[in-house]
Amino acid sequence: MPAYKVIDADGHIDPAPVCDWNRYVRAPYGAAADKLAKAAYDRSGDLTTTRRGGFDAKARLADMDTEGIDVSVLFGGSMGLSTGMAGDDKTFGQALAEGYNNWLHDFCSVSPNRLKGAALIDLDDIDAACREARRAVSELGAAGIVMRPFHKTLTVDDPYFFPLYEECEKLDVPLLVHGPGEFRKYLQERYHTHFRRHSLDFPVSIMMATQDMICGGVFEKFKKLRVAMLEGSAGWVPWFLDRLDEHFEKLPHHVPHISEEPTELAHRYIKEGRLFWSCEPDEKYLPFILEEMGDSSIIYASDYPHWDAIYPNSVRAISERTELSPKARKKILNENAVKLFGGHI
Ligand SMILES: [Zn+2]
Repeated sequence: MPAYKVIDADGHIDPAPVCDWNRYVRAPYGAAADKLAKAAYDRSGDLTTTRRGGFDAKARLADMDTEGIDVSVLFGGSMGLSTGMAGDDKTFGQALAEGYNNWLHDFCSVSPNRLKGAALIDLDDIDAACREARRAVSELGAAGIVMRPFHKTLTVDDPYFFPLYEECEKLDVPLLVHGPGEFRKYLQERYHTHFRRHSLDFPVSIMMATQDMICGGVFEKFKKLRVAMLEGSAGWVPWFLDRLDEHFEKLPHHVPHISEEPTELAHRYIKEGRLFWSCEPDEKYLPFILEEMGDSSIIYASDYPHWDAIYPNSVRAISERTELSPKARKKILNENAVKLFGGHI
């Protein structure tokens, strides 16, 4: 195991099997939250966690020891990535976000130095989202704010989200863009197997968010904003940025908020420690990504305990990978995440 701290920028939990939402979600929404969360968990079936560490903090810490993870930043499953399950009822959505963050805080308190929460916010009301982001960071110790790759009809560069980006800058926490987005609904209408949907929805959603953040000028407007693009793999990054460069050359008037090629901008944001992608630990093209984007661009993510994670070998998939230099391995497993999360981990 490495001699430095291994930071997992994206692990998962799911409170559904154990949580009594009446305790965590404000009245009168407890029973409705309970029903929704359990139904979502049941629908996911064997695609969600089968390990206790997904909902039991002590079991999680034991599995982190086995894997060699020192610190894990935790995202939800059926609840925790989006309050969309509350439909158009904004107040219910806000109650779900608060309740989930309260539960997450209790989960992390078992070992607050090793378990870190990624806070859920309800994006339907941006002022309420900012308030909850403030509460989650300053009162509950959250290490970052979860953002969807897009929200309903809005892309992530829409000015609607700007108050949230300003808030992240003030709180000095990263924006954690986690797939999938609502693109999944489109895929669900066309494909009938998880194979066909899952192969596309995470990377394509994160590609869209990458384009919108860079070409929409979000990093130019918010000079201190740090962003991680999560669970979308990374092999496509150099190719996609090159494709955006070609469009920039031909159609610069369509992207008035930027004045340099997207690849050049991405390199600058990476150098400034403001833009990262998580990789699959065993991603074949990792050496190529590092060659093209540099070793400051990629962070390690375990994806534990999901069906497609490679527990207990995900740290080793990087730490023992000889095509990567020891310096690059340390950057991926430790230094890049330290830059991303700052003082919050
Ligand atoms: Zn994830």
